[in-house]
Amino acid sequence: MAEIVSIKCPNCDGELKFDPKSQGYTCEWCGSFFDQSFFDQMEGAAAAAGGDAPPAASAQSSAEEEAGRIFTCPSCGAEVVTDATTAATFCYYCHNPVVLSGRLSGNLLPDFIIPFKIPKEEASDKLIKSTNKKWFVPKNFFDSKQIENLTGVYFPYWKGEGHYVGLATAEGNRVRSWTTGDYQYTETKTFRVERGGTIDLKNWLAIALSKTNQVLAEGVQPYDFKELKPFSYGYLTGFQAERRDIEKKVIEERAGKEFRTCADSTLRSKMSGYTTITKFNSNYTKEDIDMKYTLLPVWTMTYQGKGDKVYFYSMNGQTGSVIGDFPISMPKLLLFASILSGIVLALFLLGGWLL
Ligand SMILES: [Zn+2]
Ligand SMILES: [Zn+2]
Repeated sequence: MAEIVSIKCPNCDGELKFDPKSQGYTCEWCGSFFDQSFFDQMEGAAAAAGGDAPPAASAQSSAEEEAGRIFTCPSCGAEVVTDATTAATFCYYCHNPVVLSGRLSGNLLPDFIIPFKIPKEEASDKLIKSTNKKWFVPKNFFDSKQIENLTGVYFPYWKGEGHYVGLATAEGNRVRSWTTGDYQYTETKTFRVERGGTIDLKNWLAIALSKTNQVLAEGVQPYDFKELKPFSYGYLTGFQAERRDIEKKVIEERAGKEFRTCADSTLRSKMSGYTTITKFNSNYTKEDIDMKYTLLPVWTMTYQGKGDKVYFYSMNGQTGSVIGDFPISMPKLLLFASILSGIVLALFLLGGWLL
């Protein structure tokens, strides 16, 4: 069930790793370079041969793997200990990538992925710059040991799209006041207002891993989905990856509520030109929700603060935008969080349009 994929260089048999800068695969041993089409070809050949895993991959199974936590490194034979949700990691001893393809297959096979675009050196530079001027971050927060701790992880998300067709009705009131002589007049005209149409909601994201800090995992949004690629195991090499443990059904319920709210406010925003809107009521004849299992790149770091408190830090692995649960005072954190959610909501609303 749990197979290990390692991608060998066809020229020297060394381990290949995905390179965020070139978006291809470089061999650290002989310097060869391969692009994604080379890897897709290998995967295609593997599928034709009846295998699930890439052909250059060595697959192995053992009794410990049934326990699902301990694997044997295909390069040096050392034991690799993982979490139940780990889908890709690297060997602690030889630093070669270990991709557990069996944990991302069948109905756990991701639909899409955005590959890492920011290499580790750039991520740590950005991290230091972004916190340099922050007086509230302790000095030792970003010493070299901490930076070592910076890890590139593909996190599992549900990426949702909503297609809604509906009609909203309301009463729109126009109030007009004027003065004639000693009298002041107020006129209120009430209209029945109807707005209907198609509302498309795109790029809604929810983290699909329960052990993750939700604020940090969802706060690194937005991603540029123009760079979304069909899933391929190759992108995972050299990074860590987690598989989902939150299923579509659970997420769909939450998405349904948020999509409905969004569709309502889109229709409501089209009822302009009135002093007040009352008795708003909406009815949808179509509420289609489509969820795709998607892996997205995040640079993460943890910091052990005073006492037992552990602080987290995340950076979007595609755009470099930063969110941190830095050791700061509560009011600052709250302000940051509310501004952030405001931005996310605004972007989300831009996805809605009317026919
Ligand atoms: Zn090579
Ligand atoms: Zn090893």
